[in-house]
Amino acid sequence: MQTIGCDRHIYAFSTDLAPAASVPCGSRVRFDAQDALGGQVRAATDVLSGLDFDRVNPATGPLAVEDVHAGDTLVVTVESIEVDGRGVTVAGPGLGVLPDLLERHVTRILPVTSDAVCFDEIRLPARPMIGVIGVAPATGAYPTGTAHRHGGNMDTKEIGIGARLVLPVFQDGAMLAMGDVHAVMGDGEVCVSGCEVSARITVTVDCIAGRQRDWPIVVTDDAVHVIVSLPTIDAALEEATRQSVAILSDACGVPTEDAYMLSSLAVNLGISQLVDPNKTAKATIPRSILARPIDEWL
Ligand code: CA
Repeated sequence: MQTIGCDRHIYAFSTDLAPAASVPCGSRVRFDAQDALGGQVRAATDVLSGLDFDRVNPATGPLAVEDVHAGDTLVVTVESIEVDGRGVTVAGPGLGVLPDLLERHVTRILPVTSDAVCFDEIRLPARPMIGVIGVAPATGAYPTGTAHRHGGNMDTKEIGIGARLVLPVFQDGAMLAMGDVHAVMGDGEVCVSGCEVSARITVTVDCIAGRQRDWPIVVTDDAVHVIVSLPTIDAALEEATRQSVAILSDACGVPTEDAYMLSSLAVNLGISQLVDPNKTAKATIPRSILARPIDEWL
């Protein structure tokens, strides 16, 4: 299996990336990822204000997937996420949903096991997820801390073990990179960080040729989640709704009027994160109502 080490990483998804590795469609690949803070926090006395922000949000890669072209869809199946035994959470003044709440920067080092994150006596069930994952964009460059149509810093907890992430491809080879693993995170990521951990991620990469949807989609056992990231959460929620209506129309073979009403009856809107430069919303569509198989309309 091809492995990309954590020393091969990017800080922006851009149109001019050089691949760290190249594999055919259908390959399994391991990505070794630093934590989102670039491994700079080693003790509770290492606070966010003292970090080198040029080293924040490294994404391991990029991986070129052979015979994948602009206009195609990349399908990334998350086979496993092995997290480090030591997680980090940071907070401070000016950060998160409540920037006025704290008067000083604080850091917690959190023991992580295969099934739990320990916050003092409180045990949180571990639910490893990939915060940053994306491909080269259509134009320009997006810092790895920003999410948009190419993926990026979506901080969506559904991108965990067993999930299939479906990304529009804008450049030959796709140029897949990922990092910013969290051992656990709540929707919103309200204080600005999850339980940040270094990790070994194993994925399988596949391709759907000749078509793509507008935004990233996560397919889990029971739902399809459309992931939209825009400068305001209001705009992101509106676009996620628009996407869910389009998907329901395609996947159920019904006109827009019916798809809009079905969305109101069955789709759950949610928030992935509120703390990055673009805010991320999700529209969660139950697979039980989709008449056509996913591979026919994705
Ligand atoms: Ca993140």
